[in-house]
Amino acid sequence: MSIRTGKQYIERIDALQSFISIDGEKVEGKVSEHPAFQGVMCSQAKLFDRQHEEDFIDKLTYVSPTSLERVGMSFRQVLTAEDLKKRRLAAREWALCTHGFMGRSPDYMNTTLMALASAADYLKGKPNCFPEHLQQFYEFAREQDLTMTHTFIEPQVNRKQYYIEDDETTIAAKIVDKTSQGLVIRGARLLATQGGMTDELLVLSSISFDLERSFGFSIPSNAPGLKFYCRQSFVDNTSVFDYPLSSRFEEMDAVVVFDDVVVPWERVFYYENLEVASQFMNISGFQAYTLHQVLSRQIVKTEFILGVVQSIIKTINIGDYSHVQQKVVDIIVTLETMKALLLKSELEAHRDIFGFLRPHQPTLQVAIQVFPKMYPQFTEIIQILGASGLMSIPSEKAFAADDGDLEHYLQSFQDGGKERVKKFRLAWDLAMSSFGTRQTLYERFFFGDPIRLASGLYHSYNNEEFVRRIESFLDKKD
Ligand SMILES: Cc1cc2nc3c(=O)[nH]c(=O)nc-3n(C[C@H](O)[C@H](O)[C@H](O)COP(=O)(O)OP(=O)(O)OC[C@H]3O[C@@H](n4cnc5c(N)ncnc54)[C@H](O)[C@@H]3O)c2cc1C
Repeated sequence: MSIRTGKQYIERIDALQSFISIDGEKVEGKVSEHPAFQGVMCSQAKLFDRQHEEDFIDKLTYVSPTSLERVGMSFRQVLTAEDLKKRRLAAREWALCTHGFMGRSPDYMNTTLMALASAADYLKGKPNCFPEHLQQFYEFAREQDLTMTHTFIEPQVNRKQYYIEDDETTIAAKIVDKTSQGLVIRGARLLATQGGMTDELLVLSSISFDLERSFGFSIPSNAPGLKFYCRQSFVDNTSVFDYPLSSRFEEMDAVVVFDDVVVPWERVFYYENLEVASQFMNISGFQAYTLHQVLSRQIVKTEFILGVVQSIIKTINIGDYSHVQQKVVDIIVTLETMKALLLKSELEAHRDIFGFLRPHQPTLQVAIQVFPKMYPQFTEIIQILGASGLMSIPSEKAFAADDGDLEHYLQSFQDGGKERVKKFRLAWDLAMSSFGTRQTLYERFFFGDPIRLASGLYHSYNNEEFVRRIESFLDKKD
């Protein structure tokens, strides 16, 4: 099998019958028909379908080096500048389908897995490490066009530095046994966006001080004992007029519980190795490659936001005011900055120790500092410019029952009432609904705590040359 269709994606996830709990109830029957998942799974299915369309097949797929079948471009390993460019164009194409609102479209995790597999050599010869399992899983996922979610962090119990959970009460997932079949995992992890609507769950401990909690593996979403506890859904109803974004792109987030889940040895990449658990993500191209995909998505999202803001401005004719223009310029500056950073990361790509071409990581680390700061400002701009318009938004049902009042009194100088409200409902769903505020939180945190990411940039950025320049300047007598 190579690239999947949307129908195949949906059938496969439905067939898994994974344990998904929402609002105290286990999802029974087809997850794709559950109101919380229906819209987003349909959007995800469209991504798979696009891979088969004649106009997009070359952009979104490539020929597998092993099976010679067409596989998804986001699995492509990077040997040349052309590979990077192809990856960027494919990521943009998929992001355009969701306008950047699905942070975990499959290319995000495909890229993550590709990045880890490209660094599998790091695991070679190290205790309790299985580089061949990682490589095999990467190839399997690529050939089967699997979807993945992931959990990289531990529950938010006690974030004091060097906190280690005691042995009595297991909360953060850990290895409780090793059998001939595999590792036995008990406990919880955070936070699987799309949990339950993917084939697989990738589990990696990023920083660990605890041997039992040092591991990297993947497990099918329907593994016995694996449970996804979802938050409440933000899809209030399926009307695309009322909830133009929530009804389509509400990805859902889930706490993952491992109830003595057996992870087969062939899916274990490493375990009980503190050095590897703490270093592997950093040494691999995870940050560089994944952020390269992320930026493509965030650029498309910023373009969409610019479009929404401009359409509000036009609708109520406020474009002459200089503070309004300044706010649009703030969005334009972010957009152009992100586009420039993405291209710069490619221009300054370098060959890594594993032989692959890696986009310039510091440039991408800068981008992941810029966007989480600007995104909340975008939503504030929408609130400031939309003002009461964001609350004068009767529903589709209200318009269906309208005797003419709403159409007349909610008009703008250029639109009838319903047309005007349609635009403002979009702005509201983007900046104010539960879906919209979750998007803000997502952009702040999805790639990690921005404070610690800043610290990572501070410690890794090479300033030595500049310090030397200052020293030599101070030494000069003339
Ligand atoms: C919408 C959403 C979707 C997500 N999806 C996923 C997903 O699919 N998979 C996944 O694995 N994760 C996911 N995450 C989790 C994400 O990786 C974390 O939110 C992020 O790493 C921060 O961790 P935390 O939420 O536990 O915050 P915490 O680490 O608990 O931080 C809380 C606050 O304390 C401060 N703090 C804590 N420790 C320190 C420290 N050592 N130094 C300085 N300040 C500190 C932080 O700066 C922050 O202000 C998602 C998060 C969100 C919000």
